[in-house]
Amino acid sequence: MGEFDLIARFFDRGPARVAELGIGDDCALLGSIAAGARLAVTSDMLVGGRHFLLDADPVGIGHKTLAVNLSDLAAMGAKPVGFTLALALPEPNEAWLQGFSRGLFELADRFGCELLGGDTTRGPLNLCVTAFGEVPAQAALRRDRAQPGDDLWVSGELGGAAYALGELLACAGQTLAQSARERLERPEPRVGLGMALRHLARAAIDLSDGLVQDLGHLCDRSRVGALIDWPSIPLDPALSLLDLVRQQSLSLSGGDDYELLFTAARDNRQAIAALSGRYGPALTRIGRIEAGEGVRILDARGAPVTLPLGGFDHFA
Ligand code: ADP
Ligand code: MG
Repeated sequence: MGEFDLIARFFDRGPARVAELGIGDDCALLGSIAAGARLAVTSDMLVGGRHFLLDADPVGIGHKTLAVNLSDLAAMGAKPVGFTLALALPEPNEAWLQGFSRGLFELADRFGCELLGGDTTRGPLNLCVTAFGEVPAQAALRRDRAQPGDDLWVSGELGGAAYALGELLACAGQTLAQSARERLERPEPRVGLGMALRHLARAAIDLSDGLVQDLGHLCDRSRVGALIDWPSIPLDPALSLLDLVRQQSLSLSGGDDYELLFTAARDNRQAIAALSGRYGPALTRIGRIEAGEGVRILDARGAPVTLPLGGFDHFA
C-alpha cells in the first residue's frame, strides 16, 4: 500500500462540508467563519512510546490523538470545526490503520469535526493533529482572566488516568479494571461543557499535565495565586483503596485527565452548579483564586499539603 492509497483508503472521506476544499489539494480552503467569531487553533502531538504505549489498542490511540486537541478547544469554549492530521508510521500496517482511523472518526463525527488534510510519511510512530474551532470573540475562555476571589471549579474526577498508567507500566495491566483503563485511553473532551461555560467562567484550562501544574499556568498568566482545598477534590473511584499520599500525588500531579479547570465569579455559583452533570460529569468547587502568586493546598485540618512530585514536563 502506497502513501496515496493509504490516504484514500483510511482518511479521505470525500468532499468536506465545512471547507470549500478538503483533502486532495495542496491546502484546504476553509469557508469564512461567523462575523465576530474567532478561529481557535491548537496542535498536539502524540509520540509512540512516550504518550501512549506502543502496543495500546489502535482504536484508543485514534480516539486520543483527536481527543487531546478537542480538549484544548473545549478549554477555550470553542466549537470544533475541523482538523488536520500529520502521521509518521514505521510501516503501513492495515489492521492498525483500520483501528486508528475508526477511533479517530468515531470521535470526530460525534462533534461534527471534519478531517481537512494532513501529511503522511514513514518514520517512528508520531501522530500530530491540528484542530480548528470557532468561538465568539468576547467569549473565549482564556487562561489570563482569573481574578482574586473567583471560585475554582473542576469537572469530573481526578487521578484515574495517572493511576491506570502507573498500573500498566508496572505490568499490572491484566488486573486493571476496564473503567480505569478507559480513563487513560479514551479521555472524553468536555466540548459541550466548555461551550456552556462561555459566559459563566472567567478563565479556563484543560488538565493534561496535572492539576497543580496546570493551575500554576493559569495563575501565572492571570498574575494571581490559588488555594486548593484538598478534601474537596473529586477523586477517581480507582483511588479509593490507596493511601492518602498516593491519592494526593495522583490527584494533584497526575496527568492525562483532560477535565476542565476553570474560575468563575462567586455570583455565578448557582448557574454553574446547575450545569453540573448536564454536559457530562459533575462540577465541583475545589478552592479559590487569591491575590499573590503560587498554588497553596490545604488538607482537612487546614495544614499545607506538600507535593512529592510536580506535574509532567518533557524536558525536566
Ligand atoms: P503536498 O505534497 O502538497 O503536501 P501530499 O501529497 O502530502 O500533499 O498530500 C496529498 C493530500 O492528502 C493533501 O490534500 C493532504 O492534505 C492530504 N493528506 C495527506 N496525509 C493525510 C492524512 N494523514 N490525513 C488526511 N489527509 C492527508
Ligand atoms: Mg503541495
